[in-house]
Amino acid sequence: MTHSSAPILITGGAGYIGSHTVRLLAGQGRKVVVLDNLVFGHDQAIIDPSVELVVGDVGDQALVRSLFAKFQFGAVIHFAAYTYVGESMTNPLKYYQNNTAEPIKLLQVMQEFGCKVFVFSSTCATYGVPDKLPITEANRQRPINPYGKSKLMVEWILEDCDHAWGLRSACLRYFNASGCSPDGLIGEDHNPETHLIPRVMMAVRGEIDHLEVFGTDYDTPDGTCIRDYIHVEDLADAHARALDHLAAGGDSVRCNLGTGVGVSVKEIISAVEAVSGKTVPVKYGPRREGDPASLVANPALAEELLGWVAARKDIQDMVGPAWIWTNGPYGGRYPQNKTPE
Ligand code: UDP
Repeated sequence: MTHSSAPILITGGAGYIGSHTVRLLAGQGRKVVVLDNLVFGHDQAIIDPSVELVVGDVGDQALVRSLFAKFQFGAVIHFAAYTYVGESMTNPLKYYQNNTAEPIKLLQVMQEFGCKVFVFSSTCATYGVPDKLPITEANRQRPINPYGKSKLMVEWILEDCDHAWGLRSACLRYFNASGCSPDGLIGEDHNPETHLIPRVMMAVRGEIDHLEVFGTDYDTPDGTCIRDYIHVEDLADAHARALDHLAAGGDSVRCNLGTGVGVSVKEIISAVEAVSGKTVPVKYGPRREGDPASLVANPALAEELLGWVAARKDIQDMVGPAWIWTNGPYGGRYPQNKTPE
C-alpha cells in the first residue's frame, strides 16, 4: 500500500491507544511526530526510533504553529484527552477544557495551515444508555456524563468545520480498548487504573486485595455488565485505514469500532484465570454509577466505509497479550516518566 508522504501529527501518541497506533504507522514507513504532554502518556511507549516526540500541550498554539511550520503535516490524529468518566462527573470543566476547548485551538492552527484531515478518538460513551442493541451509528447520541459530552461536542465541531472549510474527519467511536502488542513491549498503563482487565491482572498479581465486581443484578445472562472489548491493535489498524480513506479524498466518516461480541465481567475474570492459571480474588459489590448494563457495537459501517473488521474477536486474544505485558520487563507499569531534554 502506498501512503501519503506528508508527516502526520499524533497528539497523545504516548498514551495507550496512541502508542499502538504510532508504532503501527511508523512501522508502515510513515513519518510521525508525537505531541504529548506526558501527563498520562509515557515516553517509553514511543519505541520506534523514527518517531519524534515533542513534549507539550495541544492547546499551546505557538508550539503547534511551530510544528506545522516545520513539518507541514498532511493529517492530524488526535488522541490526547482525559478519559476518567467518574472524574468528569465531579470536575466537568476539566473535561470540557481539555477534551473540547483544547482541540479547538488545534483546529484553528490546522485551518491556518490548510491541513484538512483529522482523525478523532471518539467513544461509545457518546451514545449514553442505548435504546437498542447492538449499537449502530443510527442510535441516538445522548451521553450521560461530561466525558461523553466533551467528545460529542468535538464531533459536532468537526461536522461544522467540514461544512465551513472542508475539514474532512473520521470520528472513531471506540468501544472497550483492550490487549496490547503481543511482544509485550508497550501496553496499558493508567494511573490511577480503573479499567477492568488491568485491574483483574492486578488482583491476580496481588497488587490489589481483590477485584470488585460492580453489580451482579443486571439484566444480563450472568447478572454482570456486558461490554465489547476491542483489541488495541485493531483500533490502530482502523486509524491507518481512516487516514488512507481521507488522504484519498474520502468523505468524513463517523463509525463504531468494536467486535460486535459482548463479554461479561464474569467472562473476563474466567479468561484471565485461564491465561494465568490462577484464581482471581473477587468481591461482589454494588453497581457503579453510570454503568449501562450492555454496550455492544454493530461494526458494519466501519467495514463498509473503511474496509475494517476486527481481526481478533476472541477475548483470549486480548487477555493473553495483556498477561504478557503485565509480566514483562515493565511489569505492566512503565518506569517513571522522564521528560526528554
Ligand atoms: N468493572 C468492574 N470492576 C472494576 C472495573 C470495572 O466490575 O474494578 C466493570 C464495570 O462496571 C464495567 C466493565 O467492568 O461494567 C468495564 O469497565 P471499564 O472501566 O473497564 O470500562 P468502561 O466500560 O467503563 O468504559
